[in-house]
Amino acid sequence: MSGKSDMKLIDGGVRLDGRKPDELREIRMKVGVLDNAQGSAYLEWGNNKVLAGVYGPREMHPKRLQNPTEATVRVTYNMAPFSVDDRKRPGPDRRSVEISKICSEALTSVVQTHMYPNAAIDVFVEILQADAGTRCAGLTAASIALADAGIPMKDLVASCAAGKIGEEVVVDLMKEEDNYGEADVPLAIVPRTGDVVLLQMDGKLSEEEFNKAFDLAYEGCMKVYEIQKKALSEVQK
Ligand code: ADP
Repeated sequence: MSGKSDMKLIDGGVRLDGRKPDELREIRMKVGVLDNAQGSAYLEWGNNKVLAGVYGPREMHPKRLQNPTEATVRVTYNMAPFSVDDRKRPGPDRRSVEISKICSEALTSVVQTHMYPNAAIDVFVEILQADAGTRCAGLTAASIALADAGIPMKDLVASCAAGKIGEEVVVDLMKEEDNYGEADVPLAIVPRTGDVVLLQMDGKLSEEEFNKAFDLAYEGCMKVYEIQKKALSEVQK
Protein backbone atom coordinates (compact mmCIF):
# COMPACT_ATOMS: atom_id res chain seq x y z
CA MET A 1 0.00 0.00 0.00
CA SER A 2 2.59 2.55 -1.08
CA GLY A 3 0.31 4.74 -3.17
CA LYS A 4 3.41 5.61 -5.17
CA SER A 5 3.79 3.99 -8.53
CA ASP A 6 4.25 4.96 -12.13
CA MET A 7 2.02 2.00 -12.90
CA LYS A 8 -1.42 3.13 -14.00
CA LEU A 9 -3.71 0.86 -11.98
CA ILE A 10 -6.92 2.00 -13.64
CA ASP A 11 -7.43 3.53 -17.05
CA GLY A 12 -10.81 4.65 -18.37
CA GLY A 13 -12.59 2.64 -15.66
CA VAL A 14 -10.72 -0.57 -16.57
CA ARG A 15 -8.34 -2.21 -14.07
CA LEU A 16 -5.09 -4.09 -14.79
CA ASP A 17 -6.91 -7.43 -14.90
CA GLY A 18 -9.75 -6.01 -17.01
CA ARG A 19 -12.23 -5.67 -14.15
CA LYS A 20 -14.65 -2.79 -13.64
CA PRO A 21 -14.42 -0.85 -10.35
CA ASP A 22 -17.34 -2.78 -8.80
CA GLU A 23 -16.38 -6.21 -10.13
CA LEU A 24 -15.11 -9.02 -7.90
CA ARG A 25 -12.47 -11.50 -8.98
CA GLU A 26 -13.76 -14.95 -9.87
CA ILE A 27 -14.59 -16.93 -6.73
CA ARG A 28 -14.94 -20.71 -6.42
CA MET A 29 -15.65 -22.64 -3.24
CA LYS A 30 -16.05 -26.26 -2.29
CA VAL A 31 -16.82 -27.73 1.12
CA GLY A 32 -16.06 -31.18 2.54
CA VAL A 33 -12.67 -31.47 0.84
CA LEU A 34 -10.72 -33.07 3.73
CA ASP A 35 -11.51 -36.55 5.09
CA ASN A 36 -9.95 -36.09 8.51
CA ALA A 37 -11.27 -32.67 9.49
CA GLN A 38 -14.77 -32.28 10.95
CA GLY A 39 -15.43 -29.56 8.42
CA SER A 40 -13.40 -28.15 5.56
CA ALA A 41 -13.46 -25.86 2.57
CA TYR A 42 -11.27 -25.01 -0.39
CA LEU A 43 -11.59 -21.58 -1.94
CA GLU A 44 -10.09 -19.90 -4.99
CA TRP A 45 -10.56 -16.15 -5.12
CA GLY A 46 -8.74 -14.71 -8.12
CA ASN A 47 -5.20 -16.01 -7.62
CA ASN A 48 -5.72 -16.69 -3.91
CA LYS A 49 -5.92 -20.38 -2.97
CA VAL A 50 -7.09 -21.15 0.54
CA LEU A 51 -7.81 -24.31 2.51
CA ALA A 52 -9.71 -24.26 5.81
CA GLY A 53 -10.10 -27.16 8.24
CA VAL A 54 -12.16 -27.32 11.45
CA TYR A 55 -11.55 -29.55 14.46
CA GLY A 56 -13.98 -29.62 17.36
CA PRO A 57 -15.84 -28.80 19.43
CA ARG A 58 -13.49 -30.76 21.68
CA GLU A 59 -12.24 -30.34 25.24
CA MET A 60 -9.94 -27.33 25.40
CA HIS A 61 -6.32 -28.04 26.28
CA PRO A 62 -4.54 -26.67 28.21
CA LYS A 63 -7.39 -26.80 30.73
CA ARG A 64 -6.49 -23.44 32.28
CA LEU A 65 -7.66 -21.79 29.04
CA GLN A 66 -11.13 -23.36 29.27
CA ASN A 67 -14.10 -21.01 29.50
CA PRO A 68 -16.76 -22.63 31.74
CA THR A 69 -19.61 -20.83 29.99
CA GLU A 70 -18.55 -20.85 26.34
CA ALA A 71 -16.54 -22.55 23.65
CA THR A 72 -13.40 -20.77 22.44
CA VAL A 73 -13.02 -20.36 18.69
CA ARG A 74 -9.32 -20.41 17.84
CA VAL A 75 -8.14 -19.53 14.36
CA THR A 76 -4.65 -20.25 13.07
CA TYR A 77 -3.94 -18.35 9.85
CA ASN A 78 -0.82 -19.57 8.11
CA MET A 79 0.83 -18.57 4.84
CA ALA A 80 2.68 -21.40 3.14
CA PRO A 81 6.34 -20.65 2.27
CA PHE A 82 5.46 -21.09 -1.41
CA SER A 83 2.38 -18.85 -1.27
CA VAL A 84 4.16 -15.65 -2.34
CA ASP A 85 6.79 -14.63 -4.93
CA ASP A 86 9.68 -14.57 -2.46
CA ARG A 87 9.70 -17.63 -0.23
CA LYS A 88 7.94 -16.70 3.00
CA ARG A 89 9.77 -17.67 6.17
CA PRO A 90 7.75 -20.56 7.66
CA GLY A 91 5.95 -20.13 10.96
CA PRO A 92 3.98 -17.44 12.71
CA ASP A 93 4.83 -13.75 12.44
CA ARG A 94 3.17 -10.56 13.66
CA ARG A 95 0.91 -10.38 10.62
CA SER A 96 -0.36 -13.97 10.95
CA VAL A 97 -0.96 -13.50 14.69
CA GLU A 98 -3.00 -10.37 13.95
CA ILE A 99 -5.05 -12.03 11.20
CA SER A 100 -5.66 -15.13 13.35
CA LYS A 101 -6.95 -12.89 16.15
CA ILE A 102 -9.32 -10.82 14.03
CA CYS A 103 -10.68 -13.94 12.32
CA SER A 104 -11.25 -15.61 15.72
CA GLU A 105 -13.18 -12.57 16.90
CA ALA A 106 -15.29 -12.38 13.74
CA LEU A 107 -16.21 -16.09 13.85
CA THR A 108 -16.86 -16.07 17.62
CA SER A 109 -19.63 -13.55 16.97
CA VAL A 110 -21.64 -16.09 14.91
CA VAL A 111 -20.83 -19.44 16.54
CA GLN A 112 -23.30 -20.51 19.26
CA THR A 113 -20.44 -20.78 21.73
CA HIS A 114 -22.75 -21.11 24.78
CA MET A 115 -23.68 -24.61 23.58
CA TYR A 116 -20.17 -25.95 24.21
CA PRO A 117 -18.75 -24.80 27.56
CA ASN A 118 -15.08 -25.66 28.15
CA ALA A 119 -14.63 -26.60 24.51
CA ALA A 120 -12.25 -25.45 21.81
CA ILE A 121 -13.23 -25.11 18.18
CA ASP A 122 -10.02 -24.99 16.17
CA VAL A 123 -10.01 -23.51 12.69
CA PHE A 124 -6.89 -23.78 10.54
CA VAL A 125 -6.63 -21.45 7.55
CA GLU A 126 -3.83 -22.33 5.17
CA ILE A 127 -2.99 -19.80 2.47
CA LEU A 128 -1.54 -21.89 -0.34
CA GLN A 129 -1.28 -18.99 -2.78
CA ALA A 130 -1.61 -15.30 -1.91
CA ASP A 131 -2.65 -12.42 -4.13
CA ALA A 132 -4.07 -9.86 -1.67
CA GLY A 133 -7.33 -10.13 0.22
CA THR A 134 -6.26 -13.33 1.95
CA ARG A 135 -7.83 -12.38 5.29
CA CYS A 136 -11.21 -11.96 3.56
CA ALA A 137 -10.71 -15.19 1.61
CA GLY A 138 -9.57 -17.05 4.75
CA LEU A 139 -12.50 -15.85 6.82
CA THR A 140 -14.96 -16.72 4.05
CA ALA A 141 -13.52 -20.24 3.76
CA ALA A 142 -13.36 -20.71 7.55
CA SER A 143 -17.01 -19.76 7.88
CA ILE A 144 -18.24 -22.42 5.43
CA ALA A 145 -15.84 -24.98 6.93
CA LEU A 146 -17.55 -24.36 10.30
CA ALA A 147 -20.95 -24.83 8.69
CA ASP A 148 -19.66 -28.02 7.01
CA ALA A 149 -18.60 -29.26 10.48
CA GLY A 150 -22.24 -28.86 11.58
CA ILE A 151 -21.36 -26.28 14.22
CA PRO A 152 -24.44 -24.24 15.13
CA MET A 153 -24.10 -20.64 13.99
CA LYS A 154 -26.41 -17.63 13.83
CA ASP A 155 -25.36 -17.12 10.22
CA LEU A 156 -22.26 -17.30 8.05
CA VAL A 157 -19.60 -14.59 8.05
CA ALA A 158 -19.05 -13.15 4.57
CA SER A 159 -16.02 -11.02 3.83
CA CYS A 160 -14.74 -8.76 1.06
CA ALA A 161 -12.47 -5.73 0.79
CA ALA A 162 -12.64 -2.48 -1.14
CA GLY A 163 -10.07 0.26 -1.52
CA LYS A 164 -8.67 3.08 -3.59
CA ILE A 165 -6.38 2.82 -6.60
CA GLY A 166 -5.26 6.06 -8.23
CA GLU A 167 -8.27 8.32 -7.78
CA GLU A 168 -10.90 5.56 -7.87
CA VAL A 169 -12.62 3.57 -5.17
CA VAL A 170 -12.86 -0.08 -6.25
CA VAL A 171 -13.85 -3.44 -4.80
CA ASP A 172 -11.61 -6.46 -4.09
CA LEU A 173 -8.00 -5.32 -4.65
CA MET A 174 -5.57 -7.82 -6.17
CA LYS A 175 -1.86 -7.78 -5.38
CA GLU A 176 -0.62 -4.95 -7.64
CA GLU A 177 -3.57 -2.83 -6.57
CA ASP A 178 -2.90 -3.62 -2.92
CA ASN A 179 0.85 -2.92 -3.25
CA TYR A 180 0.63 0.32 -5.24
CA GLY A 181 -2.87 1.54 -4.35
CA GLU A 182 -3.86 4.24 -1.89
CA ALA A 183 -6.01 2.30 0.60
CA ASP A 184 -7.51 -1.09 1.42
CA VAL A 185 -10.59 -1.65 3.61
CA PRO A 186 -11.29 -5.29 4.49
CA LEU A 187 -14.83 -5.86 5.79
CA ALA A 188 -16.69 -8.89 7.17
CA ILE A 189 -20.38 -8.95 7.97
CA VAL A 190 -23.09 -11.23 9.26
CA PRO A 191 -25.38 -10.94 6.22
CA ARG A 192 -28.64 -11.79 7.97
CA THR A 193 -28.31 -8.95 10.48
CA GLY A 194 -25.89 -6.64 8.67
CA ASP A 195 -23.62 -6.65 11.74
CA VAL A 196 -20.02 -5.70 10.99
CA VAL A 197 -17.61 -8.22 12.54
CA LEU A 198 -14.39 -7.03 10.91
CA LEU A 199 -13.44 -3.60 9.59
CA GLN A 200 -9.88 -2.45 9.04
CA MET A 201 -8.25 0.26 6.99
CA ASP A 202 -4.76 0.47 5.55
CA GLY A 203 -3.90 3.78 3.82
CA LYS A 204 -5.82 7.03 3.59
CA LEU A 205 -9.37 7.82 2.45
CA SER A 206 -11.61 10.87 2.78
CA GLU A 207 -14.91 10.33 4.60
CA GLU A 208 -16.74 10.24 1.28
CA GLU A 209 -14.28 7.73 -0.18
CA PHE A 210 -14.49 5.59 2.94
CA ASN A 211 -18.30 5.49 2.72
CA LYS A 212 -18.07 4.47 -0.92
CA ALA A 213 -15.47 1.79 -0.14
CA PHE A 214 -17.63 0.49 2.71
CA ASP A 215 -20.69 0.26 0.44
CA LEU A 216 -18.73 -1.54 -2.29
CA ALA A 217 -17.20 -3.98 0.21
CA TYR A 218 -20.66 -4.58 1.73
CA GLU A 219 -22.12 -5.37 -1.69
CA GLY A 220 -19.13 -7.65 -2.28
CA CYS A 221 -19.85 -9.48 1.01
CA MET A 222 -23.43 -10.08 -0.09
CA LYS A 223 -22.22 -11.59 -3.39
CA VAL A 224 -19.74 -13.76 -1.48
CA TYR A 225 -22.60 -14.88 0.82
CA GLU A 226 -24.58 -16.17 -2.17
CA ILE A 227 -21.56 -18.20 -3.36
CA GLN A 228 -21.06 -19.56 0.18
CA LYS A 229 -24.69 -20.72 0.41
CA LYS A 230 -24.45 -22.34 -3.02
CA ALA A 231 -21.24 -24.20 -2.05
CA LEU A 232 -22.94 -25.48 1.12
CA SER A 233 -26.00 -26.63 -0.79
CA GLU A 234 -23.77 -28.59 -3.19
CA VAL A 235 -21.99 -30.59 -0.45
CA GLN A 236 -21.86 -34.32 -1.07
CA LYS A 237 -20.81 -36.58 1.77
P1 ADP B 1 -4.37 -9.50 2.86
O1 ADP B 1 -3.80 -10.73 2.20
O2 ADP B 1 -5.50 -9.80 3.78
O3 ADP B 1 -4.72 -8.43 1.84
P2 ADP B 1 -2.09 -7.87 3.54
O4 ADP B 1 -2.67 -6.58 3.09
O5 ADP B 1 -1.24 -7.87 4.79
O6 ADP B 1 -3.24 -8.94 3.81
O7 ADP B 1 -1.21 -8.51 2.40
C1 ADP B 1 -1.47 -8.27 1.04
C2 ADP B 1 -0.72 -9.25 0.19
O8 ADP B 1 0.68 -9.03 0.33
C3 ADP B 1 -0.91 -10.72 0.56
O9 ADP B 1 -2.12 -11.27 0.11
C4 ADP B 1 0.29 -11.32 -0.11
O10 ADP B 1 0.05 -11.46 -1.52
C5 ADP B 1 1.36 -10.26 0.13
N1 ADP B 1 2.16 -10.61 1.32
C6 ADP B 1 1.78 -10.57 2.60
N2 ADP B 1 2.76 -10.99 3.43
C7 ADP B 1 3.79 -11.31 2.63
C8 ADP B 1 5.12 -11.83 2.86
N3 ADP B 1 5.57 -12.10 4.08
N4 ADP B 1 5.90 -12.04 1.77
C9 ADP B 1 5.47 -11.76 0.53
N5 ADP B 1 4.24 -11.28 0.25
C10 ADP B 1 3.41 -11.07 1.27
